[in-house]
Amino acid sequence: MRNAETKTQKSKLKAQNHSSKVKAVGRKVKIGVLDIQGSVEEHAMMLEECGAEVVFVKTVRDLENIRGLIIPGGESTHISMMLKRGGLFDTIKKKIKSGMAVYGTCAGAILLAKKILGDNGSIGVKSFNVIDAEIERNAYGRQTDSFEVDVEIPVLGEKVGYKGNVTRKKVRDFPAIFIRAPKIKSVGKNVEILAKYKNEIVMAEGKFGNAQKNNILISTFHPELTNDIRVHEYFIKMAA
Ligand code: GLN
Repeated sequence: MRNAETKTQKSKLKAQNHSSKVKAVGRKVKIGVLDIQGSVEEHAMMLEECGAEVVFVKTVRDLENIRGLIIPGGESTHISMMLKRGGLFDTIKKKIKSGMAVYGTCAGAILLAKKILGDNGSIGVKSFNVIDAEIERNAYGRQTDSFEVDVEIPVLGEKVGYKGNVTRKKVRDFPAIFIRAPKIKSVGKNVEILAKYKNEIVMAEGKFGNAQKNNILISTFHPELTNDIRVHEYFIKMAA
């Protein structure tokens, strides 16, 4: 996998220069990044900064030993089309069923949702259907393509308190970047809402298949385009 190696080295170099110096998770968990389209390098860089080992996933073989997979943002119609090649779609679905963790950002979130609305809904997009959520593509409109806002994500804070009275320590808000983002219009009762912005659900998690704990994470924003590695750290813990 020469191509993958070169890319990893490039990401490592970038990670060394990365401005954020947040403490790494410190455990080598193997996490794949679906290498079809979108901010693949940026996700890889974040994961490496968190101390994870990155696998660029282009073929079924790349999926073999990973504990988690990130599906980056991009164009869900295109990613969906490419997933049909070489059995990637079916193998990923099988791995999720057997408990592998998966994190979808933006277009990635669309590909994990049970129901896709807007822009002719799911025409041309075949979802993995692993989280009970309805998601509307391009729901913020094309004028306001892109924006950045600070979002409160309580799960990024440490748990404090005693049995029966545990809360989360308030942490600084997360700089969420939205690019032609979808909206999560509703989630099922077993899906946990992790963050909202202006009453819209922007991050959620759920459980699928044989996983012991939640193994599906979705966000409509792009944490990989920031200097803040906390969402990636959170996902690595989920996959570990
Ligand atoms: N608009 C894209 C889609 O519907 C998602 C955009 C993104 O991933 N940033 O697939």
